[in-house]
Parts: sequence; structure tokens; C-alpha cells
Amino acid sequence: MTTSLFYISVVVLAAAAYFFYNAMQRKTTAYTPPDDIRSILAQHVTFYNSLDAAGKATFDARVKDFLSYVTIRGVDVMVDDTDRVLVASGAIIPIFAFPDWRYNNINEVLLYKGTFSKEYSTDDGERNVLGMVGDGAMHREMILSKPSLRTSFSNDHDGHNTVIHEFAHLIDKADGATDGIPEYLLANPAIIPWVKLIHDTINEIKKGRSDINSYGATNDAEFFAVISEYFFERPAELKEKHPGLYAMLEEMFTPVKNKEV
Ligand SMILES: [Zn+2]
Repeated sequence: MTTSLFYISVVVLAAAAYFFYNAMQRKTTAYTPPDDIRSILAQHVTFYNSLDAAGKATFDARVKDFLSYVTIRGVDVMVDDTDRVLVASGAIIPIFAFPDWRYNNINEVLLYKGTFSKEYSTDDGERNVLGMVGDGAMHREMILSKPSLRTSFSNDHDGHNTVIHEFAHLIDKADGATDGIPEYLLANPAIIPWVKLIHDTINEIKKGRSDINSYGATNDAEFFAVISEYFFERPAELKEKHPGLYAMLEEMFTPVKNKEV
């Protein structure tokens, strides 16, 4: 009897310790955004400022929802509410037209203190990477340089936004392949014309005849990420200089708006 009581006590204590440990873990890792993030959004996010009152409320809620399932963590760098809200904003902008879209291929965004190498080092190798969607052991992780996160939003009309770039890769990857063809955004008959348009434009970039960032000529996936930055940061210029590309991207990113017109 004494022995069984002893074992029962051990089991009860172990279970209690387990639940306590998990509760502590949650307490230390969970992040709750402040109730009022409107001032951060209004100060830093042009896209948010362009929305009407209902759109702003939706954007606010979706930023908070994103932060409820994706952790933003600094590596040797402080992370504050503004950093978190900006990462979430870069995630929500490209999928804002899709009310039910939640990223199912990411758990965590790591912020690094500066640029980093392809081996994720901030100290060694060629450190020219501003952002990256992780692979292999870094699967479901994204890395962003914190300075690049901040400049993506402080200068949001230069056509460069590392956060939108990396989340465009995740949107592309959602169908299983990071290949420049975001199948959830493209109706099947549009895929072949889209790939042709990518290749024609990459050829123009390679000939030095394009204003599109030459990094977009790396491959089809980088093209989609680079042109997404252009679409969200300088839509009027993209429409004027590349009407065909603009029309296809508008169809992909704002299909509802298109139907209303
Ligand atoms: Zn990229």
C-alpha cells in the first residue's frame, strides 16, 4: 500500500512539474501585442494609412492574429513592439485581400542585428543577405536583418521591402514548391502566360533593359519576390512601365478588387 502510494505521489508530482514547466515556457515565450497598435501602424505603415476605417480595423486584427501564431525573436538584438508589428504588417500586406489566409508554413521570425551570410552567420563569410526563408534545420523559420526591417518601412516607395519579399516566398511556397508560381493566387489557365511573362522579363533584365532589380533575374522564385516588392511599393510606376506584369499581379493579389471594377 505504502509502495503504491509512493508511486502515485511520484506520478502526480511528475505531472504537476510537467504542467508547471509548460506553463512557465508559455509564459516566457508567448507575446501579447498591446491593445492599441494603431499608433505604430499609423506612424510606419503607408499601406495601413491608405485603408478606410473598416480596412484599418481589419488590418489591425490580422496583425494581432499573425502575432498570436508566429513568434518574433531577436538574436543578439532587442526586439520591441514596433519590430513585431512591422514584421506582421509585411506578412499581412500581400495577403490582405484574402481574409482567411493564415501562414501555415512558418513558426518563427528571427531578427538579426545586421546582414548575414547564407550560412546564417552575422560574423563570418559573405554577409550580404537581408532576409531569408529557412531550409532544412531552419525549416519554418524566417530570418530578417533588423536594420533592413526598419528601412523597409521607413522608405516604402523605393521598391525594396525585404519583409514583403520574404513573405512573397512563403506565399509561393504554400503550394509545396518555391518556383515563382503561387498556385493559390493564380487560376490554372493563367499559369503558362505568367511563366512566359516571367521569362521574357528576366531576359530584358539580363540585357540591361529593365528598371526591375536585377536580383529578380536570379530565377523564377526570386523574380516573383522582387516583383511583389515593386507591386506593393510603387504600383503606379509598375502599371505605367510594365502594364502586363501589373495586370497579372493585380489579378493575383487583389482579385476581389478586380471583380468590383
Ligand atoms: Zn528571395
